[in-house]
Amino acid sequence: MPCRATRWRRLVPVGIWRREVPTRRGGRARVRRPADPAPIRHPFGEPPAPGAAVELAEGVLWLRLPLPMRLDHVNVYALDDGDGWTLVDTGLDTGKTRAIWQKALAGPLAGKPVRRVCVTHHHPDHIGLAGWFQATHGATLVTTRTAWLFARMLVLDEQPRPAPETLAFWRAAGMDAALLARRAGQRPFNFADVVAPLPLGFRRIAEGDRLRLAGRAWEVRLGGGHAPDHATLWSLDDNLVLGGDQLLPGISPNLGVYATEPEADPVADWIESCTRLAARARDDQLVLPGHKLPFTGLPLRLAQLVENHHAALRRLEADLSRPKTAAETFASLYGRAIGEDEYVLALAEAVAHLNHLHRAGRILREAGPGGAWLWQAAARGQAAAAGGGP
Ligand SMILES: [Zn+2]
Repeated sequence: MPCRATRWRRLVPVGIWRREVPTRRGGRARVRRPADPAPIRHPFGEPPAPGAAVELAEGVLWLRLPLPMRLDHVNVYALDDGDGWTLVDTGLDTGKTRAIWQKALAGPLAGKPVRRVCVTHHHPDHIGLAGWFQATHGATLVTTRTAWLFARMLVLDEQPRPAPETLAFWRAAGMDAALLARRAGQRPFNFADVVAPLPLGFRRIAEGDRLRLAGRAWEVRLGGGHAPDHATLWSLDDNLVLGGDQLLPGISPNLGVYATEPEADPVADWIESCTRLAARARDDQLVLPGHKLPFTGLPLRLAQLVENHHAALRRLEADLSRPKTAAETFASLYGRAIGEDEYVLALAEAVAHLNHLHRAGRILREAGPGGAWLWQAAARGQAAAAGGGP
């Protein structure tokens, strides 16, 4: 359905995949690089074709579904529980994705029912078809309470035009006036476009819970920053880790601020999560991520995922020697031109980094003309006097 796909490409608030800039060692990173970290390796180089599966370990299958955007796929996993499957994440609800699932259900997954769908976080590429599996296969949805509440709220909250609060948020972030006027008259991205309705009822997982899947015991560890209460599952019986978008190789997930919580500091949540999860990371673990290829070398990867944001924060602070709006920081933050497709996500990520620096007292802000915040690096001493944030 081309119009749905176009809308998704243009407006989905899920991921601007910022290219990673190699950073120097040390700096402000709180996850210290292990002294002699194992490199990041991809033992499985060839992703599965649509509807096919690759067995990564006994009873653990890797499948892929397409996304109509620059990041063109999402990984999902099927875990063999003996009498049925547990799926980990589902892809978007589109005709194409449903057809690929039908092919997989009649192919590598044939002969056993889908009993459970475990969703790592509430974003559409992960939870999109969970409600469909519940409604048509009688599957139980297993996820965090925050993920369920967020997804169900957003699916029900269908808006024909951007909410006034969203327009005010974009204006405050310095969105180009012509673009703002155009967006105000357009139907925004709505979760309901690509997420199936979620029936009432789910099974909650929380920090430290244990699950039995594919003949293994798994411990639940929550992350944040990309999505609140993002579940990761750590096998206690072998080396597997289901990472969702919390543990990705090669790309850094979007940390965004939106009108729902304009003063949020997801960068702090992200750094705290990486630091906490690093205590459990081992070189030999095989991480099954939400995008890209399965990988080993998690201790190094977690250090990189933190350093990447510290480097962005340093570039941003240096760029604010004179006052700028959030939209004027794209060059220093991304190092490339931002097209209209990615603009809203880029803005969300810019505000996230500005909020973090502001809370840390490293930058100040004041209301500029036209209702946009102007951000500027704090002179030393000035930040402390200003209180360092809201
Ligand atoms: Zn994702």
